[in-house]
Amino acid sequence: HALHSDPNCVFCKIVAGAIPALRVFEDADVLAFLDVGPLSEGHALAIPKEHFPTLEDMPADRFALVASRLPRIADAVRRAVGAQGCNLLLNVGREAGQEVPHLHWHIIPRVAGDKLGYRWNASTYPPGRGEEVRQAVKDALEA
Ligand code: AMP
Repeated sequence: HALHSDPNCVFCKIVAGAIPALRVFEDADVLAFLDVGPLSEGHALAIPKEHFPTLEDMPADRFALVASRLPRIADAVRRAVGAQGCNLLLNVGREAGQEVPHLHWHIIPRVAGDKLGYRWNASTYPPGRGEEVRQAVKDALEA
């Protein structure tokens, strides 16, 4: 079937071959290519070929399709650049840093001693608040 595509979307244009990208993996449903603004050598993006702006637009089976390719792609990227690890990052929504509204996984190779950093500032729940939040999530799952 014809995959849904957005003519104004930069990643859809890459899928269509209308703008260039350094492709590292491709099959019928998934494309991975090097990020033009790499955080480290090998930084790649893995996307569904079909246009889904963000997570809430995406059926679970389409999400799983992309996720199922990640172990192989991420391991190849990591080994290709001699990295020990990688961050697999999904920015969902503008507030979370998503700038391109075509859902994409970042594959960011990490080497010992690199200067990328990672730690976010963790907080704690005041007494009782964790239980309230848990209930709110359970209610949302039922809604
Ligand atoms: P995000 O902020 O999570 O939406 O990430 C968007 C990423 O897409 C950034 O890391 C950009 O460097 C990358 N990017 C934007 N346009 C292109 C492009 N034409 N080719 C490759 N990577 C791109």
